[in-house]
This record gives sequence, C-alpha cells and structure tokens, in this order.
Amino acid sequence: MRSSSLVARPSLYEAMNSIKNHWVSVRNHQRSFAEYTYVYPVISRRSQGLSIGVNLNPDKICNFDCVYCEVDRRSPGKAREVDPVRLQAELAELVDFVLAGGLAGQARFDEVPALIRDIKDFAFSGDGEPTMIPNFYDCVQAVVRVKEERALTSAKIVLITNAAGLDKTDVRRGLALMDEHQGEIWGKLDAGTEDYYRRVNRSPIVFERLLANLLTTAQVRPIVIQSLFLRVKGELISDAELEAYCRRLNDLARGGGRIKEVHAYTIARPTPEPWATRLSEEELNRIAEVIRRATGLEVRCFS
Ligand code: SF4
Repeated sequence: MRSSSLVARPSLYEAMNSIKNHWVSVRNHQRSFAEYTYVYPVISRRSQGLSIGVNLNPDKICNFDCVYCEVDRRSPGKAREVDPVRLQAELAELVDFVLAGGLAGQARFDEVPALIRDIKDFAFSGDGEPTMIPNFYDCVQAVVRVKEERALTSAKIVLITNAAGLDKTDVRRGLALMDEHQGEIWGKLDAGTEDYYRRVNRSPIVFERLLANLLTTAQVRPIVIQSLFLRVKGELISDAELEAYCRRLNDLARGGGRIKEVHAYTIARPTPEPWATRLSEEELNRIAEVIRRATGLEVRCFS
C-alpha cells in the first residue's frame, strides 16, 4: 500500500523500489568484510543505498534476546571491546576503498553498480546493542572524523538501537555529537504491552524504561521508530496488541516526542527460532495501514 506522503514524494518512492529485496547485496547483510573487525558495507533498502555498518558489538552481546534475531551466537565474537582508534583506521580505509570504486570488484555488489560509490550513511548496528558499550561517544567521534575528513557532508550517522541505553550519559553525549553531523536515531518498538514485549524481545529490561528513553530522546530531536512484525508460532500480532502499540506511538507524540517516520518491516533472513516467521507483503501493508490511520504518521514498509 502506498501512503499518501509517498505519493507526494515520488523520488523517495522510486528510490525505495529501485532497490530490490531479492538482490544478493540486499539479502547479504553479513557483518564482516575483508579482515575488518568493526566495519562492513551493505546495500540497505532502509538507507536507500550503500550503508557502511559500524559494528559496536563484535562480542555479540545484547541485552535483548529477540526471537527473530539473526545474529549467530553459536560462534564466538571477533573482539571483546571496541577500540575507537582501530575503528577509525578501519573506517577510513574502507571509505577510501569505496570512494575509489573498490566494491565494483566484489561479487556480492555486482547487481548494484550505480549504488556502490555513494555512501548514504554510517550505521551503528551490528551483532548486539550499540548503546551497551562504555565508549559510545568516542566511537561517534571516530566516525565524525572520517566523515569530515572526506567531506561526506550529506552522509548520515545512524544509530540502530533497542533504546535500552539511550539514558546513559556517555550515549547522550554521543547523540548530541551525532545531531551536529546528520545524525538519525532508529529506535526499536515491536510491542504495545509488556507481555508481548517479553514474548518477542525477551529482555529483562522493564518496558516502561524503553518507552521513557524513546520519549526523552524524541523530545530532543525527531527519531525514526523501527518495528518488526512477524508471526509467532503461526500467530499474527493481535488487534488488541496492535492498538496498544499505536497508543504507545500516540503517547510519545503527546509527550512532546517527535517521530519522523515508522519503519515497519518483517523477518528477511533465517532466524534461530523456526517458529518466528515472516509476514507476507500484504499482511505487513495491512498493519502499516492500521498504524497510519491510528497515528497519522508516515509508515514505510520493508517486506
Ligand atoms: S536487539 Fe537486535 S541484536 Fe539484540 S537480540 Fe534483538 S535483534 Fe538481536
């Protein structure tokens, strides 16, 4: 389903649709490239092109245990800590490689020759929750330096987060620095009730804390809400749960939080829980339409 705002912005709609979700470069979100510990290139539909991932959790540790998590925790992580000096050096090398057209020689980027030199964003994501690390600010600073030195003025710095650590002082400093350099926060919200949150995200963190973190963060700058919808043991999210989810979004707006848009997506790659399964495009579109009607927000779907 095409939202009215997408109709009004054909260039965005076209960009999203020009990136096909069956492309190898889109399906392959492997968080490793060459010998690097922290950085990797991916073609991202949500970034509308080439995104340089910055993995702040090479230890694979997360404070959530989402049923749909695709991180393979059976093998050990590459490093226990994040070294911002090494991160900056790896990032500088990869960016120079990309800008020189180096991805053209990589089989997994064969289908996307037009996209592989244009860095849309640097994305803190990876194999765990980026806000868990003690030196988040230093890592933001490392990315800012590389971005500034290469005059990549339009490239965003995106934080993909489950919101658990957005209240930490060091993280808040990092967010403020991101704000000065095309920062954007994509905060996870998959549920409307504590029960469903515990069922899908399986975290010991109190749900209200996440909501409070999303609110205080969105009061300072507009944020993106990213929500994954799925079938759990064959069951779709219930109408009551979806209503509660929409109420949470409306509560954020009522509390003075600004939501730029909602990214509604579903499982794209194999998950360790076989009973966590993807939605069809039609099912996801139906959910997105309910959210639009209940909140008035722009909702982009990624099925
Ligand atoms: S928050 Fe992300 S990394 Fe952590 S368990 Fe969930 S999907 Fe996996």
